Amino acid sequence: MRIGLHVRVGSGYAAAVAHAKSIGCNAIQVFSTNPRSYRISAANVGALEEFARLRREAGIDPCVSHTPYLINLGSEDSKIYNGSIHLLENDLAVAAVGGIRYVNTHLGSYGKRDRNEGFAAICRALEQALAKIAPGVYLVMENSAGAGNLAGGTLEELGRFVRALDHPQLGVCLDTAHAWAAGYEIDTPAGVDRFVYEAAECIGLDRVHMFHFNDTEVPLGANRDRHWHIGDGKIGVEGFRALLARPELREKTAILETPGDDADDARNMQTILTIARGAAAA
Ligand SMILES: [Zn+2]
Ligand SMILES: [Zn+2]
Repeated sequence: MRIGLHVRVGSGYAAAVAHAKSIGCNAIQVFSTNPRSYRISAANVGALEEFARLRREAGIDPCVSHTPYLINLGSEDSKIYNGSIHLLENDLAVAAVGGIRYVNTHLGSYGKRDRNEGFAAICRALEQALAKIAPGVYLVMENSAGAGNLAGGTLEELGRFVRALDHPQLGVCLDTAHAWAAGYEIDTPAGVDRFVYEAAECIGLDRVHMFHFNDTEVPLGANRDRHWHIGDGKIGVEGFRALLARPELREKTAILETPGDDADDARNMQTILTIARGAAAA
């Protein structure tokens, strides 16, 4: 697998790429805009091209952008709904300019809405965004922790979106902490076997482009979204080793979204790379 980390770009793209390279990343994830704002600032084409050049030089590929957390494609409020579509379209446009292969998004929540009605609304939003997607860019839907009425908490539901839209540039990102919180027992080889089998059956592994590798301390099925350091949580070394050992996942990308500072980033990358080497040798 290509393995990398979500990096902060507040100190500039050069520092972000240097940090990622120094800790062994060959993939990277960034927020394209302020993750907590509906405001969109004009894309800085020069900076995005420079970012792409720095990544090329560092051997970091692919690059993922994570859409703002505010996005709710299932909202009944037309302001939130249309604002969310607008943010998503903006991130897809930025990705096209910056050579960013994957735009990873949360789908949002059905709220008090009828689930079928909410599902149809999310499909319309995705359809609108995909209508303008550039070649070489993929829109990937991230699985949720399944809390409340969050969309996309199950592999089965993610698969229904993939089939309903039937667009070759629509795919899926599987977050391990969210999957665990949604009740998928991925802490053993047998549990990972079932998870990968179900992903293949429900979604198709060709559509599962990437993973978020996060450990978590919440109990299985707790529906709580808490990320923890790799190997120090419930999924543990054994769960990640089992995922890294799957030959069908070898071409996929895994991004760490673990908590803490630069030293924690370095330690988490070292842990996952050590597990990956062990899995490859086994
Ligand atoms: Zn996310
Ligand atoms: Zn999360």
